[in-house]
Formats: sequence, structure tokens, C-alpha cells
Amino acid sequence: MKISEIQIKIYKIPLPEPVEAYAAGIMKAFDLVICKITNDDGIEGVGYITVHENQGLAISEIIKNSFKNILINQDPRYIEYLWQLMWKNVHYAGRGAPVSFAIAAVDVALWDLKGKCLKEPLWSILGGHSKKVLCYAGNIDLNFSKEKLLTEASKCLNEGFKAIKMRLGRQSLKEDLDRLESMRNHLPDEIALMADANEAWRVDQAVKAFNEIEKFNLVWIEEPIKPDDFSGYKLLKSLGKVPIAAGENLHTMSEFNFLINALGVDFVEPDLTTCGGITPFMKIAKLSEINNLPVISHGVHELHSHLLSACPNASYMEFHAWRVDDFIDGKLSIENGFTSPSDKPGHGITFDFEKLNSYAIK
Ligand SMILES: [Mg+2]
Repeated sequence: MKISEIQIKIYKIPLPEPVEAYAAGIMKAFDLVICKITNDDGIEGVGYITVHENQGLAISEIIKNSFKNILINQDPRYIEYLWQLMWKNVHYAGRGAPVSFAIAAVDVALWDLKGKCLKEPLWSILGGHSKKVLCYAGNIDLNFSKEKLLTEASKCLNEGFKAIKMRLGRQSLKEDLDRLESMRNHLPDEIALMADANEAWRVDQAVKAFNEIEKFNLVWIEEPIKPDDFSGYKLLKSLGKVPIAAGENLHTMSEFNFLINALGVDFVEPDLTTCGGITPFMKIAKLSEINNLPVISHGVHELHSHLLSACPNASYMEFHAWRVDDFIDGKLSIENGFTSPSDKPGHGITFDFEKLNSYAIK
């Protein structure tokens, strides 16, 4: 079997309303990069990544200029080999994002192609553990007024979610605590609550915040400090106050190894689009499993539903605010807090390219 064609498309998808996180600021749209890989039998694998606005073009250029020529005519079944080939080809300027995003788009297409050739869904070829994937709603944002915060949480409960994550990182800790208290009082006791600080604090500020938020019994606090301050994570976890989630801004398997070895994390949170694809995600999930840690996910939930279904240590999957629901056949549904991946061959997600056309960048 050979790779005969690789096509790349980039789109800018507007968000239904602007959302805000401390590290990223206000986001009005996101870029969607789609990589189609066709084999010599005409079977097509589709990979995609989502990224902040105005960054998709740079990522697509890496695929076009640095990967396309080394992938054409290769056997697409040898995903580990091709992953290493891409990693080594851009080693000097790479070893992380945006190269990890570019490798991820190709890697997802290769896994989709493999699933289609084998006529098996992705969750099955990745190992297959449980098709019941626990979910939480992750679109409760920093820029929302307190009233909107609570209204949006209620909407998520009506959609079937049993767990909600809200963002922290307002002007003062007092304001964060006030919003947190309102949310906890608003939600029924049985609804789980997480919070995401998106790197809002220094370590000393995080220590103060942890002392105050301990009483809310959060499932976790996510990214309290910048992502690569591994000694800071170690210190915060050693307090034993609030479980910590982190990983969405780590871009290599080595970074996850540092974080886990530093004993700095309770919920390991890789995002296949930021860490180099399905291939490294599954290794990070296994590293977490070996260290007796749960794995969770960030972004691209249609894809992550397959990956978490293959992980015995899977915990919550995030339903992210960047959604491609309007452009795909294969939108996930929630029932009583759980979802399930598609049973179609590959990832089972089919894009409506005609509909996407008016959002094309290139
Ligand atoms: Mg986050």
C-alpha cells in the first residue's frame, strides 16, 4: 500500500460568541486545518487539528513543505515509522509546537485511513476498553457575566452534562471566589465542578488560591500556573489541597514525562492536536496508566472520544467550545453525562466540504 496524494485545506471558523481564557485572551474564531491522505486504492484518511486564529496557515505550510514530499509513496500502515520520519525531518526547528500540530494532522489522517482499510472504528484498533466516555462541558468562560455563567451552566445540564468546568483568572482572587461560590450554589450537589485558571497565577498566588478554593471540592483545578513550571506543579500538588489537571499546553511526550516524574499532576490532560497526534497521545495515556494516574482530554472531542474509549485509565473528556458540529456528520450526543465514539470505520467523522468552502482561507 502507498500514499498517493496529500491535500491540505485551512478554514477560519467563527465562534457563536467570543470566549476568553486568561492565557489566550478573547477568542472570536479558530482555524481548522484538514489533511486528507489518499492511498493507491483511492481510500481516504482525514486528519484535522484546531488552533488559535491566524495560526493554521503556518501549520499547513509545515505539512506542505516539510512532510508532503517525504510521505508520498510511503506505506501508510507504518504509522510509527512515518511519525518518526516527520519528527526527525524537522528536528532542528521542531521538537514541539507548531510542528506537533502539523504532525498531528497527518497522524490523525493515517489512523483514519488505517481504520477505513481494516473496516474497524478507531476506538477498536487503538485497543478498545469502554465505549462509555464520561464528559464535562468546558465552555463556561472568563468573559461571561456571573448571570451568564450560571445560565450557560444550566444549558449544559439540560443538554445532558453532569459535570461543568468554569474559568478562573479574573482581576482578583476575591472575584474568582465569588463566581465559584455562585456556581457551586447554583449547581445541584450531584453535579461535578472543575475550574481552569489557564495559567493565571504565579506559584505564590496559586498557593493562596488553593487555600481558598479547597472548600469547593473541585474535581480539579486546571493549569493554575504556566505549563512548563514543573517544580511549581510539584509544590502545588504537595500541598494536597486541590487535585491538579495539566497538559493541554505541553507539546512533546518528554514534557509529559517531566510533569509526571515531578509528581506535579493528578489528571494528565494531553490534547492530540497539540502533542503530535493519536500516536503520542496513546503513549502519554499509557505512561499515565503506569503511574496510576487518570488521563483526560482537551479539544477535538469527536476524536478524543475514540482515544479515551481505548484507555483503561480514562477519566473525563472535555466538550470544548471550539466545535465543528455544524460541518460534520458524526456529532456526538450526551446522555446522562456520557458519550460514545462512532462505530463507523476510522474516526467516522465526515466533513461537509461544500459547507466549509465559504470559510476557506486557502
Ligand atoms: Mg484548559
